[in-house]
Amino acid sequence: MMRAAPAALSILALFMAFPAAQRAAKSLDIYIVDVEGGNAQLWVTPSGESVLIDTGNAGAAAVRDADRIMAAAKDAGVSQIDHLITTHYHGDHVGGLPELATRIPIKEFIDHGANVQPTPQIDPVLQQYGELAAKAKHTFAKTGTRIPIAGLDWRIVSATAQILKTTLPGAGGPNPYCAGFKRHDVNPVSGGPLGNTEDEQSVASHITFGRFRVLYLADFDWNQEVELMCPNNRIGTVDLFVVSRHGQPSSNSEALVHAIRPRVIIMNNGPRKGGQPAAMNVLLNSPRLEDLWQIHFALLGGQEYTVPGIFIANVEEDATVPLAPLPPAPRGVPAPAAPQHNGPAYWIKVSAQADGSFTVSNARNGFSKTYRAGN
Ligand SMILES: [Zn+2]
Repeated sequence: MMRAAPAALSILALFMAFPAAQRAAKSLDIYIVDVEGGNAQLWVTPSGESVLIDTGNAGAAAVRDADRIMAAAKDAGVSQIDHLITTHYHGDHVGGLPELATRIPIKEFIDHGANVQPTPQIDPVLQQYGELAAKAKHTFAKTGTRIPIAGLDWRIVSATAQILKTTLPGAGGPNPYCAGFKRHDVNPVSGGPLGNTEDEQSVASHITFGRFRVLYLADFDWNQEVELMCPNNRIGTVDLFVVSRHGQPSSNSEALVHAIRPRVIIMNNGPRKGGQPAAMNVLLNSPRLEDLWQIHFALLGGQEYTVPGIFIANVEEDATVPLAPLPPAPRGVPAPAAPQHNGPAYWIKVSAQADGSFTVSNARNGFSKTYRAGN
């Protein structure tokens, strides 16, 4: 017994030298952080490699959003961002970067290249972005290529408005949802013109971990969806779809959402951004959908167009939320400021296994649900 002790002790010492997150292994964990209708997703692979997709909002909200991302990083046991993907240069996707960079090292910056939509609001942020990226590894995402991340197959399906022309493995059949597709002449939410905005430049990703598949296209436009998905479905089916454009009806056509047949949809909406009736109709009608999870209760959907509260990470504390959706602001008139939500915020976390099973959990109420492999 005495002779066995030193070996046992050294194994124990080795075991204790690795932090909990690395020892837990095996699952791919995805935190969809509440950045109030912006985007920030922290992905941590079974080997502990981290990918952050976007950094939340700019201006006064940047400190808040950077802190919320750091809370997820702490929960995941992550002490550096190995790869930061900035999908495009709108304030709700890149705005928190300067604040976040003061809190955690970022090893690689991945983006689509030059900004096509300069504005006085975002240009100072992008100045800082450029300075930070110059001190790290800086990679331009190119459609059809992979981002090397151990254990995952991370494929770029669109960037710089160059949409994937080839077919992903296992995909390619005719898409029956193309027939009803109607192109948009204007953005149905803003009333503004369509065209060469940063949204269309979005770095869009398809990610495979074993049998578990995810699609996140960022703010990819409705009219681009038909180019990606018609007449043949180049993407195939996925387990998880993180909605485009925060669940607004300026993206998320049936030709996309119904064809990819997600089992679970997560909507990274804000209180007054995303979740409009037209979008909810498409999402909730998706043929293989088991559950839609929302980052926020959506005032633009009201009590009529919502999922049960158990699937919503952040709820309205005002008990008098009307049944009817909040009417959209008239075209050209800025919507009233969204309700302030600067207090505690909650993420939705996905933990996936290589066999394709995954568990989604709501950090607010502790509710979690497991989706078994093979359904
Ligand atoms: Zn956005």
